[in-house]
Amino acid sequence: MTSSARTVVSRIAIQCSGTVVSCHHAQEIQFPYKYGDLSRRMSNEPDFRFIPKADDPGSYLARFSKPDKLLSVMMPADAGSIIRLLPELSKHSNSLIVLHVEVDGDLSEALVLRSAALYVIYSARNQDAHDNSLLASKLALQEKKAVIHIYEREGIDDVNEIDELPEEEVRHFMSSEPASLAEAHIQKSTGSINANGYTNGTSNGVRDRVSGIVNSKQNRKSIECDEFSSFLEEENPANSLLHMGYDLASSTTTTLTKRLSPPLTSWGHSDAHTVIFVLGQCPIVNIEGAKLIRISLVNPINPSTILQFLPQDVRHILVLEQLSHWNLQWTPLYLDVMGAVQLLEEARRPTVHSTLLGHQSSYSPSDTRRFLEHFMSSSKQDRSFARLGKSSNALERSLENEVPPIPPHESSYMKILTHLFERRLEIINFPELHCSPGSIASSPEFALGRARRRLEERAELTRLVKEIVQEKNVSTDLHAVLSKWLLVKDDISQCERACLDVLKALENIGSLLSSPIISSMFSLRSHLRFKSYWIIGSDAWSYDLGSSGLHHLISSGLNINILIVDSVPYSSRNNPMNATKRKRDIGLYAMNHADVYVASVAVFSSYTQVLQALVEADKFNGPSIVLAYLPYKSEDTTALEVLKETKLAVDSGHWPLYRWNPSTEHASKEPFSLDSDSVKQELRDFLDRQNHLSQLTRSEAQFAAELVGSLGESIQEVRRQRAKQVYHDLLKNMSAVPLLILYASDGGGAEKKAKRLDTRGKARGLDTMVSAMDVVSIEDVAERDYVVFITSVAGQGESPQNGRKFVKALNSAIAKKERPFSHLKYAVFGMGDSHYWPRPEDAHYYNKASKDLDARLEHLGGERFVELRLGDDQDEDGSETGYKLWEPLLWKALGVDTIEVQEAEPEPITIEHMKMASNYLRGTISEWLEDKNTIAISPSDLQVAKFHGVYQQDDRDIRDDRQAQGIDPAYAFMIRVRMPAGVCTPTQWLVFDRIADEYGNGTFKVTTRQTFQFHGVIKRHLKSTIQAINKSLLDTLVACGDAIRNILCSAIPSKSKLHSQVYEFAKVLSDKYLPNTTAYHEIWLDKKMVAGQAVQDFEPFYGKDYLPRKFKIAIAVPPTNDVDVYAHDLGFVAIVNVDGNLDGFNVYAGGGMGMTHGNKKTYPRLGSILGSCSIEQAHVVVDTIMLFQRDNGSRADRKNARLMYTIDRIGLEKFKAEIENMLGWSFLPARPYAFDRNIDDYGWSQNENGKHNFMMFIENGRIQDTLDHDFKTALREIAKVHQGTFRLTANQHLMLADIPSEEVAGIKTLLEKYKLDELNYSGLRLSSSACVSFPTCGLAMAESERYLPILINKVEAICEENGLRNDSIVMRMSGCPNGCSRPYLGEVAFVGKAPGTYLMLLGGGYYGQRLNKIFRETVTEREILSILRPMIKHYALERQVGEHFGDFVLRTGYVLPTTEGKAWYEGTGGLGKYREISVA
Ligand code: SF4
Repeated sequence: MTSSARTVVSRIAIQCSGTVVSCHHAQEIQFPYKYGDLSRRMSNEPDFRFIPKADDPGSYLARFSKPDKLLSVMMPADAGSIIRLLPELSKHSNSLIVLHVEVDGDLSEALVLRSAALYVIYSARNQDAHDNSLLASKLALQEKKAVIHIYEREGIDDVNEIDELPEEEVRHFMSSEPASLAEAHIQKSTGSINANGYTNGTSNGVRDRVSGIVNSKQNRKSIECDEFSSFLEEENPANSLLHMGYDLASSTTTTLTKRLSPPLTSWGHSDAHTVIFVLGQCPIVNIEGAKLIRISLVNPINPSTILQFLPQDVRHILVLEQLSHWNLQWTPLYLDVMGAVQLLEEARRPTVHSTLLGHQSSYSPSDTRRFLEHFMSSSKQDRSFARLGKSSNALERSLENEVPPIPPHESSYMKILTHLFERRLEIINFPELHCSPGSIASSPEFALGRARRRLEERAELTRLVKEIVQEKNVSTDLHAVLSKWLLVKDDISQCERACLDVLKALENIGSLLSSPIISSMFSLRSHLRFKSYWIIGSDAWSYDLGSSGLHHLISSGLNINILIVDSVPYSSRNNPMNATKRKRDIGLYAMNHADVYVASVAVFSSYTQVLQALVEADKFNGPSIVLAYLPYKSEDTTALEVLKETKLAVDSGHWPLYRWNPSTEHASKEPFSLDSDSVKQELRDFLDRQNHLSQLTRSEAQFAAELVGSLGESIQEVRRQRAKQVYHDLLKNMSAVPLLILYASDGGGAEKKAKRLDTRGKARGLDTMVSAMDVVSIEDVAERDYVVFITSVAGQGESPQNGRKFVKALNSAIAKKERPFSHLKYAVFGMGDSHYWPRPEDAHYYNKASKDLDARLEHLGGERFVELRLGDDQDEDGSETGYKLWEPLLWKALGVDTIEVQEAEPEPITIEHMKMASNYLRGTISEWLEDKNTIAISPSDLQVAKFHGVYQQDDRDIRDDRQAQGIDPAYAFMIRVRMPAGVCTPTQWLVFDRIADEYGNGTFKVTTRQTFQFHGVIKRHLKSTIQAINKSLLDTLVACGDAIRNILCSAIPSKSKLHSQVYEFAKVLSDKYLPNTTAYHEIWLDKKMVAGQAVQDFEPFYGKDYLPRKFKIAIAVPPTNDVDVYAHDLGFVAIVNVDGNLDGFNVYAGGGMGMTHGNKKTYPRLGSILGSCSIEQAHVVVDTIMLFQRDNGSRADRKNARLMYTIDRIGLEKFKAEIENMLGWSFLPARPYAFDRNIDDYGWSQNENGKHNFMMFIENGRIQDTLDHDFKTALREIAKVHQGTFRLTANQHLMLADIPSEEVAGIKTLLEKYKLDELNYSGLRLSSSACVSFPTCGLAMAESERYLPILINKVEAICEENGLRNDSIVMRMSGCPNGCSRPYLGEVAFVGKAPGTYLMLLGGGYYGQRLNKIFRETVTEREILSILRPMIKHYALERQVGEHFGDFVLRTGYVLPTTEGKAWYEGTGGLGKYREISVA
């Protein structure tokens, strides 16, 4: 196998280490990717850290050095990194560290480290690099000392292939005890294998393998033994010990490799008169009278080691060191050799000469021979030689490599700067501008000097121009443009024009250039433009640890901007290494200087605020500092991770967003703007010191409250008080047996059981108390006698959210070896699904939370009074089956099993009760809106609010972190608009755009129900938002809730007449089924109750309890099925007559997409055909079926309440008969039609009336401005001029509809300007769709909207490899089984089960006509790609003409077709050879 030195060293580092840190440029050498590839193929998986080259590698030593695990650091020998590393490495010389330093024919930089570690080993050959990597690792482990291993990027090898050891042997070697030193010396004295191998003494002078080695002492004709012993006595005992350590590790390594690893190796004649010591890559040449000694152990070198190699009659020594430059007079090896020689008697001392060795590519073996022969034949005074070979190559190459690349993540800010300032922008320390001065040019200090020069030159230009305009002989034209320039030169908006005019005038000045003043002005013409000067401070390419550049900038007062990128992730904020890099503190420092603009921004939190800050910084006439947050660990960090880390930092106040603009003070405005909700104490303290804040607090009381308060209220104290109160109550009631019931529950099932147990316990005379696990502390529980735990399970076996804190406390008690539960008796009941994780390797996740809890309680001293019982969703009655057997055991153990319970248990409160009690959808929402002390809505109002289009959500990205801090989740609300058929006007669009900015999170989302929803609306903006929507003549009523939801209809690009007919049908239905209650108007629009409650509400269609579940209606117009008409409770397929007019409908009933993982009573279903009817009849059909469902749908089990289950329960035939009976007429037979797609028709189309439409691709419907696309801005600009309508599609895209011909050109210009006309996406992407999921959806189990585009990038590559770039494959993803993106119709689809884990579905129909089938129960991205890669290739090779992917996977036997909803679970797991192993 041919491997590079770097690969072999990396491999050994991975195999031997607990942590590997790489400081290489990723772009330069692709190291992390190679590393990832290597580590995947090895069983040892160390923690890998990639750090930017300009970062401080020394700080990583403190962070990752561990007392029991090896830390290997891989780094190039570049001056900056070495200098930064030096002080830290000295502090860690007694740590388990191996520093592998890569050099390229020049040891100048690497040898700077020589004194910072006790061991320094050098490898000139690739094979040495392999062996010495092992030796260094073993040595570090054995001696518990830092070892530096310097290896050559390109070794000079005498073998073509490196003999690499298998991983098992290496790992065994590293874990084995070292051979004792005595053994090593026995080997040495017997001559079997000489661990020292100081000389091989072979006659041909060529180094031999193990077999040719003989003991050096036997052949020694060197310094006399007695004399040698006396040197040994004089030696530093510490060094001797180090040598012994080296000997031991070397001996152990040799036993494994069967190759010697001597500290020095010699070639040549034992009676030589000239000795050449080489540190570097010198070819081995055999010259009469000479002996060559190559150094491997650079430190420590004892004098005795050197003297041992000197022949008795040596007269001359030449020290050759491979150094391109050395700043001191004497080189390191020369000093060692000189030191040793001084120990000899003066008469016998050889002369010592020193010469530098160039890069190995610049000399051949014959050059070397000539050079040495010349040395040996020269007279003494002629022996001052120039270097052997050239050093310039290496030097130049290293300088080229010094140009540091900008990491892709950080280029976000560069892009924004370029976008904003265009030609005015000058990033003074931009790496690529400065190849020749190397990395220094990218440092802020250097850049500051350059900037100062630029400003001085512009001042000089101004002076010259002023002089020129006063000269008489200047032409009028030139005079005019220069005068104009002088007037506007510092005006951003006008200077550019004036600059261009001057430049144009200068093109023709010809002879005037002979005038010195004009000539000088001409030479400075590049400063005519009013530049925006920026210096970038980034760990990756302009590291500025001491912030000295910053200090100079501030004190200079120059009009220069500095953008400082902080990349430390929030989750790593507490690492000691980051203590020195708290860039956010720079803001406080800078604000203390009065005339400095300061902003703290985060592009992944608020793009708009970044723009604001950069523009303000540019305008500010003085130093500006913009602190930019961009947390990432490596270049592999995904945008999603950056986003999450940013959110955590901003939400917690760790990275507050603000702007401090002293120039506004002159206009008597407040200079400080807080752009995020939370600030940390340091900033608050600063603000408190400012007079400005006091004014702000007085003038904006509400704002001030937000400034100094934290989001949400601390629930921890409230909970603690409540728990204490209950405990005291309990103590008062000593007569009853106290029983504490604790639950942990995400879905509510465990909570329900716990509360029911509480009621039943009380009925048996027990003194029970129930609460969530996280509400109580370990101490509370330890004081109890009996505690019952009921817990479900989340994710991959974790505790549900409201039990995690308690579980963490248990873990920490175990870690501290405490036993707090010595008096506690406990019982645990767990709830899980044994089929949720079908693969044998995942089986342990089943009910893991309860099993772990049970074991931990026992570990902490608790005693079970009833054995653990696991409830399984797969049992006939779900978890109730197990529970029914377990509860009686509790009563028995507590001695209350014989008590007869007289009273019936109160019925649990359900959503049905809440609806009934809501007084026609009022609940206590108005009171809650008035209550300023609570943010979270009550559970019953939560259910009622859904009917008003309002959902409570919280930011899932930061939920855990907030919970850990004991504060409420970051509650905010989602508001969904009711917009029949997805049609809105440009005016309405502008309202939505403004609402998103003013009240929401700055974005809005086109949903799969052809409407908009806004996220992140805080409680006090709820009313204003809904009022604004109403003012635009739309509303949010029953956009959610158990009623008829927003009605869909096909977008139909070209048939405007037909569209208006189906739209009218949809609109009439939508208006007709609006609830009659006036609650909505009272609560949100401040309307008084009609006739002061004299007239009662009445719901003719819905009744007081509304429908059992949501009811969805869609209308499709063939040939497009873009609404997935079969997926709704009622689906109408439009039948069109010969004139192209709507003539009636085929009616489908009972479609639905929701199911519950592991609950086979739930499944997706396609609507069943009932027949056809006229348009008028269709209205009655909706009335009838809706009323039938209202009265027959299950109100006891919401999971089985949709119309689909009602139909399957009573049977389709009977259902149809009942409906026809109620109608009083029968459906006609279904009429023929054909669909050919369910995706959107992108691009331009023209209506029959001559107007135009443009269907654009908005990935997953998110309307926002991003770095790549300003879609939100673009659509706002379009809405300002558009005269037609906007039509939303059920695939979450957008059509600009009814564009008059005269408007087309203008619209095209805008589309092109904002890249909205780009449709050159792959067929896969154009056919994809994802639901919202994280971070806003409370039901999300896995990512969807944020992840699908990333997955598509990867699957797209597979499609492209197979020539399928333009082939449409319908791919869908949902974050949970509710299936908002209709994943059960996808040709390939994924449904979230746990973070990063999905159910994989295959075989849906291309136009939504067939359900898909479960192909794999749990897949991660790796598995998705490994499944799809061969499958897509198979499809590319063997598909039939026109065959769609979903049809192909059925024909070729991957999965069975799903014939009906009830059969959805039949044959899951794939077929034949494609069957999942765990279900086979
Ligand atoms: S499918 Fe689930 S995760 Fe996705 S938006 Fe709907 S409820 Fe939320």
